[in-house]
Amino acid sequence: MATLEIKDLHVEVIDEENQTAKEILKGVNLSMKSGEIHAIMGPNGTGKSTLSQTIMGQSAYHITQGDILLDGESIIELPVDERARRGLFLAMQYPAEIQGVTNAEFLRAAMNARRTTDNQISVMNFLKELDKNLDLLDMSEAMTERYLNEGFSGGEKKRNEILQLLMIKPTFALLDEIDSGLDIDALKVVSKGVNAMRGANFGSLIITHYQRLLNYIVPDVVHIMMDGRIVKTGDASLALRLEKEGYAGLRDALNLDVALVDEN
Ligand code: ADP
Ligand code: MG
Repeated sequence: MATLEIKDLHVEVIDEENQTAKEILKGVNLSMKSGEIHAIMGPNGTGKSTLSQTIMGQSAYHITQGDILLDGESIIELPVDERARRGLFLAMQYPAEIQGVTNAEFLRAAMNARRTTDNQISVMNFLKELDKNLDLLDMSEAMTERYLNEGFSGGEKKRNEILQLLMIKPTFALLDEIDSGLDIDALKVVSKGVNAMRGANFGSLIITHYQRLLNYIVPDVVHIMMDGRIVKTGDASLALRLEKEGYAGLRDALNLDVALVDEN
């Protein structure tokens, strides 16, 4: 069993305009095990993406206090690629485009990076695995010969993130707004991909603004984040309660003294 623990995490970013540090995460605590699906919900601007980017090790996010442990070992000094090698995966809210690298080349390199040099995946096995997952996600083979994310539509990018997930088979996947901009059919396909990963050796932290996704990927644990902190943790019913009461309603019901940046 693998574990991912976030302990009293405080994170700052530098505000480009006036070059001052701004605290975004103000003491986040969260523990998860492989086999579990956790959801984080919260209003816009509350620090959800900051949390996922910090776990993955993006350099813009400065940890001023706290720690992140993978299987009990601190990873906050490790570069992004080493965290990926150890089993972390981030599907970004806005996936980057990479020129000159085809999707298939990227996938194979990413899969091999998680394997030892004497155990690299063969071309045949790679193609077999690729075919199977393209089928599952209703994607065309042509997508894999295109440069990574270049000219992909919003929906294609999201599907492609899930293709990466199925191919790379991380231990913990951070899925940041994989539902944003998807129509209902694409949402079902993306959910099918994540649900296909479910199992004892896989854990996921699903970040979403809306409850809708959680009808398709039912979480074991739901965390509500407001103003840089997790303010409430519960089971899947918490997401339904949020849907009914809204962020402002829930804040008031919990008697929280926090500002909501965006209450939509
Ligand atoms: P959420 O994902 O919950 O909508 P974010 O984590 O994207 O929230 O953003 C939280 C706050 O941190 C926002 O005020 C945002 O402008 C700021 N922020 C996030 N990333 C950066 C960055 N790289 N540089 C400067 N400010 C940032
Ligand atoms: Mg975000």
